[in-house]
Amino acid sequence: MVELRLSGVRKEYDGVTALNDVSLRVADGEFFTLVGPSGCGKTTTLRAIAGFEDLTAGTVRFGDREMAGVPPEERGVGLVFQNYALFPHMTVAENVGYGLRFRDPPGAMTDEERVLDLLELVDLDGFEGRDPDELSGGQQQRVALARALAPGPDLLLLDEPMSALDARLRDDLRTQVSRIQSDLGITTVYVTHDQEEALAISDRVAVMNDGRIEQVGRPEDVYRRPESRFVAEFVGENNLFSGETRAHETRGSLVAVRGHEFLVPGSTADSVTFCVRPEALRLGGGENAFSATVETVEFLGEAFRVHLDWDGKPITLRVPEAPDDEGVRVGFDPDDVHVIDGGTADIVE
Ligand code: ATP
Repeated sequence: MVELRLSGVRKEYDGVTALNDVSLRVADGEFFTLVGPSGCGKTTTLRAIAGFEDLTAGTVRFGDREMAGVPPEERGVGLVFQNYALFPHMTVAENVGYGLRFRDPPGAMTDEERVLDLLELVDLDGFEGRDPDELSGGQQQRVALARALAPGPDLLLLDEPMSALDARLRDDLRTQVSRIQSDLGITTVYVTHDQEEALAISDRVAVMNDGRIEQVGRPEDVYRRPESRFVAEFVGENNLFSGETRAHETRGSLVAVRGHEFLVPGSTADSVTFCVRPEALRLGGGENAFSATVETVEFLGEAFRVHLDWDGKPITLRVPEAPDDEGVRVGFDPDDVHVIDGGTADIVE
């Protein structure tokens, strides 16, 4: 197993900056996820780690070892991609066995034993004689995972491995990948554009935007304490408010937003941007209340998502019961406010 470090990694392709000063550290045995919208640089980061990219600047280190000039096949990484990439003319056992060709040195087990052991690990014992086209998408991805693990890599890299699967299979595979990773304790870098998946599966996540890392942290910290407007809006739903501070009280500042004054703890700045999660908004008013109009109501199973219009500004809330009337009072507890540090200049309300 290995600790992974990227320092000042930059990658340009003919005038396109795909990665702009990316630095991160993935601890030994950690499940680390790169999450962000399409084109933000997730795959390029993974390819840089795997050794498929010549870096424009910066370094990639596995433990103490600088990887510049080390070809992919000598890096000891296992790779799983979105499109299963199994060999269609080989059985499941042959596909997994193919990965063993890179095993160095051979372990105590015979190749056959090791294949069966890996298939058991991914819950596919009994499937060794099947062809890939006799498997579901989720099963194919588990074979791809077993094949990637066959050589005993130090580092596992997974690029959107679940994005071609339907929601149910994705959930099952997510649980399995998580279990396998923690059973093996293998350092893992996982790429997804799905923030929900990232929060569910990771020890820590890095939120990427436009070739940069915006924030790194544990899922609950990134969710509860986004450090930028981008993170606040990309990770889960959020309601953002910007306003001017009118007065300071012992419990916080009074911030005027669209003619309403809200009590906002945690800020002394003249201009403040803060966010309130949909589940922290309550119907019926109370503190920090305002009136809005119900636009749509969606039933989510465990809650209702209600889209409101507050004088032209969309507001989203999640509540256990749908509102009866079109006109509602909405409020939020000052303790549920999160102030976003800096970055107020780009907010246009
Ligand atoms: P997605 O989720 O869509 O796969 P991503 O976050 O993985 O996106 P990358 O594939 O890393 O993003 O791409 C980052 C940027 O670099 C994009 O602007 C992309 O167009 C560009 N890029 C990636 N590969 C190349 C290439 N070989 N040549 C030129 N530009 C590239």
